[in-house]
Amino acid sequence: MLIFHTIAEIREFVRQARVKGYSIGLVPTMGYLHEGHLTLMRQAKKQCDTVIISIFVNPTQFGPGEDLASYPRDLDRDAAMAEGVGVDAIFNPAAEEIYPSGYSTYIDVEQRITEKLCGASRPGHFRGVATVVAKLFNIVKPDYAYFGQKDAQQVLVIKRMIADLNMEVGVVTVPTVREHDGLAMSSRNVYLDPEQRQAALSLSSSLNRAAAEVRAGERDAAKIRQLVIDLIKAEPLARIDYVEIYSYPDLEPVEFIKGQALLALAVKFGRARLIDNIIL
Ligand code: AMP
Repeated sequence: MLIFHTIAEIREFVRQARVKGYSIGLVPTMGYLHEGHLTLMRQAKKQCDTVIISIFVNPTQFGPGEDLASYPRDLDRDAAMAEGVGVDAIFNPAAEEIYPSGYSTYIDVEQRITEKLCGASRPGHFRGVATVVAKLFNIVKPDYAYFGQKDAQQVLVIKRMIADLNMEVGVVTVPTVREHDGLAMSSRNVYLDPEQRQAALSLSSSLNRAAAEVRAGERDAAKIRQLVIDLIKAEPLARIDYVEIYSYPDLEPVEFIKGQALLALAVKFGRARLIDNIIL
């Protein structure tokens, strides 16, 4: 497995793979890998001849006061894990490589998709995500790119960008990978102390409870939302950022659940802001 830090190097690696007729899969990450990331990589290995992952803590998707500086980083550990699942190359650029001085171009996916959920609590977040993913696509030119359903809104933003800008990349979405007790895997879970981690189980358990209510016939979105809020508020360590239900994949407001709906939430425990979701 090779590790590249410059755009010129990864481009040369991609060029050589293309000469051999290899298909290319890209898994964009911010590193500090866990089993969720590895699942994306294994899926990419199944479908593509060459798998490249990017490890880049993208400054433009963090807002002021967020955890850009403290975001966990460990390239040696990540490299060993990626190699273990057969990744061919890691692209790990410095911030200045991606955003050199004078950098001025950003991609804004329209507000209908980006103004709600995480876009509401993290203004500019999806602008940063769309911009860096577009740049990674231009640098690596993958046939397929792999994303986790844990970031459901991110997947919708990227699919919209690909369609609107006629990008030739297939998106593969991988279901959320969880710890044995249901907690969605996240690099930010390392911020949790044992009490907070225990309290954070309320996220997946409340989503499952909501899904069970829908299966049992409940269709009133406000009631389901309130149920989830009440279950999470029962944990004194939880500070709710949002709990919302929208139609899926259109993200329109819903009163009564008819087709598919996205129940998504963001909740803070100490300095960890965790997200999770389920399709109802
Ligand atoms: P991140 O490093 O957090 O930016 O995540 C990189 C990619 O891994 C994104 O497409 C995430 O949606 C995906 N991902 C992160 N956590 C999980 C998880 N628990 N299950 C599945 N995919 C995940």
